[in-house]
Amino acid sequence: MPGVTTAEGPPRVVIAGAGFAGLTALHELRSAPMRVTLVDRNSYSTFQPLLYQVATAGLTSADVAYPAWTAVRKAGATFRKGEITGIDMAGRRVELGDGTSLGYDYLILAMGVSAAFFGVPGAAEHCLSLYTRRDATILRDALMAALDELSAETVRRGLSVTIVGGGATGVELAGTVAELRNIALPASFPAVDRSRVQVRLVEMGDALLAPFRPALREYARRELERRGVEVSLRSAIKEVRAGEVILDSGAALASDITVWAAGVAVAERVGKLGLPAGPGGRLRTGQDLRVLGEDAIFVAGDLALIEGQPLPQLAQPSIQQGRHAAEQIRRLYAGKPTRPFRYRDKGIMATIGHRSAVVQLPRGVRMRGTLAWLAWLGLHLIELLGGRNRITAFVNLAWRYLTWSRGGGVIVGDDPPRGDR
Ligand SMILES: Cc1cc2nc3c(=O)[nH]c(=O)nc-3n(C[C@H](O)[C@H](O)[C@H](O)COP(=O)(O)OP(=O)(O)OC[C@H]3O[C@@H](n4cnc5c(N)ncnc54)[C@H](O)[C@@H]3O)c2cc1C
Repeated sequence: MPGVTTAEGPPRVVIAGAGFAGLTALHELRSAPMRVTLVDRNSYSTFQPLLYQVATAGLTSADVAYPAWTAVRKAGATFRKGEITGIDMAGRRVELGDGTSLGYDYLILAMGVSAAFFGVPGAAEHCLSLYTRRDATILRDALMAALDELSAETVRRGLSVTIVGGGATGVELAGTVAELRNIALPASFPAVDRSRVQVRLVEMGDALLAPFRPALREYARRELERRGVEVSLRSAIKEVRAGEVILDSGAALASDITVWAAGVAVAERVGKLGLPAGPGGRLRTGQDLRVLGEDAIFVAGDLALIEGQPLPQLAQPSIQQGRHAAEQIRRLYAGKPTRPFRYRDKGIMATIGHRSAVVQLPRGVRMRGTLAWLAWLGLHLIELLGGRNRITAFVNLAWRYLTWSRGGGVIVGDDPPRGDR
């Protein structure tokens, strides 16, 4: 629809999702002569890469959230809080959970993905996950309450934490929970005998951190084991029950807290939008990021599956796609043809724990250890949106790493409601 101007004025662009992709698209359209509306079910954007720090009591949940209102004000756009439940493609309207709808001339779908349990019996009922701020605080409160219980003199049992999935989320969580036990426990929970707290990481593949080079994968495994994490490779979880996990070998292992970090899929609701979907429910797009067969609907971020160019579900592809989708809308509006999306690989990184991370950059550049950890930390603090967030996250992380052996660096949570563990 080149140069479209509706009866009411300039074209309406709806951006669905205030994550990496949605906010980048919003920023890219800041000076465009268009009426841009950002829609999200939350009134904030979540910085997922630091959720594991919230879950392990190093950051507050406010440190990883950026208000959607601030983002739209800076971009000259408007914000609508609501859950997208449907799209009326013929009438060009997105439908919201409260029964209202929003008209669009161009639509960018950037609603991300969520935890997928792949039908493993009991996983959805008995596992915690780490995808939202709420997930992170639930996990933190479960961990802290379990340690409190363990401190009570009358209790003589141990605490087993199982993390399922050896990707970046599983590795960083296992490493930090182990450090919480090794470093923070003696000072913060002196009554707890460290040897009674067990941290286990279960991965069905041959190695941890699959997208990395073998030497870095091996380094990550060694670093976790050095921290006392029991790493089980080539081991799948067959079932999760209250208080235990069952491996495919049939072995039953005690597990008081089981965290599912083994995969993601598109939310069921998004799958019902009636758009062409591929593996994991990701929406299939052409090279210009428009949904196959649609001329005004773009997809960006974790949700997008580009024909012939499947990309990992990470922040960089999401940012670059968000920017590209917005640029194509500008081009269409100017009467120009769209351009294909080209991903620029800027490298990948993952952290294992304090002073331990792996970095893999283009042209064979690799780093590990303290330097990689400082690079990881610096980049994540820079990428974190908002001046206040950056400062509080920096202070809280510095406080954690400087003081946790002396009883600092553990943010107090609330007791979870009964049944949350
Ligand atoms: C724990 C964790 C750690 C990670 N660590 C890293 C890392 O270190 N490096 C890295 O590159 N990547 C990392 N990732 C992946 C990275 O965070 C994602 O690839 C990225 O967030 C995807 O961006 P997105 O914009 O597609 O979606 P998201 O950032 O997930 O944003 C989607 C937005 O859509 C909203 N939404 C969803 N459904 C609806 C609906 N129906 N209606 C309205 N709004 C909706 C959500 O509230 C959310 O705000 C991590 C992910 C997790 C979970």
